[in-house]
Amino acid sequence: MKSSVSTAPDNSYETVKQFIDGGFCESDSKATFTDFEPASGKPLCDVMISDARDVARAVSCARRAFDEGEWAALSTAERAYYLNTIADLMEARSEEIAVLEARDSGLPIRFVKGGHIPRAIAHFRYFAEEGQRLIGEVYPLEDAYLNLVMREPIGVAALITPWNAPLAVTSMQMAAALICGNTCVIKPSEQTPLTTALLGEILIAAELPAGVVNIVQGAGNPTGQALVNHPEVDVISFTGGMTTGQKVMADAAKGLKKLALELGGKSANIIFSDAELEEALDSTMLCMFANNGEVCTAGSRILVQRSLFDEFADRLKTRIGNLKIGNPLEGETEIGPLISRQHLQRVNEFIDLGVAEGAEILCGGNNVASDLQEGYYVQPTLLGNVHNRMQIAQEEIFGPVAVIIPFEDEDEAISIANDNQFGLSAYIWTKDTKLALQTARQLRVGTVSINCPMIRDFRVPFGGYKKSGLGRTGGQYSIDIFTEIKTTCLPVNPYQFPRLGAIGDA
Ligand code: NAD
Repeated sequence: MKSSVSTAPDNSYETVKQFIDGGFCESDSKATFTDFEPASGKPLCDVMISDARDVARAVSCARRAFDEGEWAALSTAERAYYLNTIADLMEARSEEIAVLEARDSGLPIRFVKGGHIPRAIAHFRYFAEEGQRLIGEVYPLEDAYLNLVMREPIGVAALITPWNAPLAVTSMQMAAALICGNTCVIKPSEQTPLTTALLGEILIAAELPAGVVNIVQGAGNPTGQALVNHPEVDVISFTGGMTTGQKVMADAAKGLKKLALELGGKSANIIFSDAELEEALDSTMLCMFANNGEVCTAGSRILVQRSLFDEFADRLKTRIGNLKIGNPLEGETEIGPLISRQHLQRVNEFIDLGVAEGAEILCGGNNVASDLQEGYYVQPTLLGNVHNRMQIAQEEIFGPVAVIIPFEDEDEAISIANDNQFGLSAYIWTKDTKLALQTARQLRVGTVSINCPMIRDFRVPFGGYKKSGLGRTGGQYSIDIFTEIKTTCLPVNPYQFPRLGAIGDA
């Protein structure tokens, strides 16, 4: 099979195809869209659009592989073997994959190489092991019956993923779905189709049975919608924006499909006046500006206790001003270009909106150096003179733009932090453990990090309160998404139930 994806520096990519039934193939219509490189604003390659007919073909292959194929019937150890093989093959090509991911997404290579790709590989290895923990339960009912509770795969899983962590998110959902015995149809973001397409090459090399994983390409309309609405899809795992999540939920409801939603956030980073200042600054910078600020858990509302506010804001401005903006492929780059021209415009509009709402640009702003103007670059920006009801403090900007807001005491910090439609994560900085735990308990969010940045442990649940999502991923929580639970009851003693209609029997 000829490779459809390469990291050729001269952009001599072939048109990227869909991956269906174990091989790359053209779409029915042969229509394409252009994938742009954020650093240059130039076309990177063309990608075939999977329309409703292509999606139907991919789903029917996944269906056949589930209903008639060997995948669900394999032991978890056998499925784990495939996951580990995928991880090995990815590891062998990790340099190439990292370059491709950075070029396609604009994410600085330091984060892609140091985080996204190792994490994607680790997801396959982790869920290979998690397979060993796919256990059932027994509920003895006195001496009469045993209830056996066992997990089974659901069937065909639709995995819809965003552009800000393409392979890291896809690998998590895919590995969990596969180890449980499901087959999948994956739809990566149309903004970052390349590393998921390359995954097709890895799957061929891993000799994964045909149809177990299929990859369709295209935007929400037509590709994503066709996938969500396809009647043979049994479970949907969607990671993306809140508004899209609402549409996906409405469509999934028509088929009463099982649904997991990992959506956006507007996380509070609460810094009490007794915080370890240097560490709090380091963490604030990392949680806000790593990955261009295009992170669902970004600590984009920086809340600082009033007695520390001026000093913290000054030191933060200096650190932000020192950030190295540049080409994502250069190792020292800390801030790369945003994903698209449209997103750049949206982020710039938020900065303008902030100013119109009365905020003050403490550093940054929406102009970049002239040598960066071809790409989708924005300056890392800090907005002060902000109150929490402003739109810039309420909405997910999803770029390197943070607001800084003072608070008096614990109650005010909690009230500001909770005054938001999202509830994904929060950060707390204080040396007072009791204060930290009391604050953490009252925050309406899925993950709280105390005196540390966001540390992802694959075993623990990750997900959001409120409009940040539905369900949790990680360890057993991912298994919950991708399995049905069946109860089987059997007697352990002779019949003990009433014999209806048996009156008069001998
Ligand atoms: P998006 O909602 O625009 O798109 C996400 C995916 O959904 C893409 O593949 C897109 O093509 C597809 N899609 C769009 N419309 C669809 C429809 N009607 N039906 C089916 N699929 C459709 O999000 P994005 O801009 O790609 O990603 C950024 C968002 O993702 C941010 O809000 C971020 O917070 C969120 N995110 C959340 C997590 C998490 O774990 N909570 C992780 C990463 C990103």
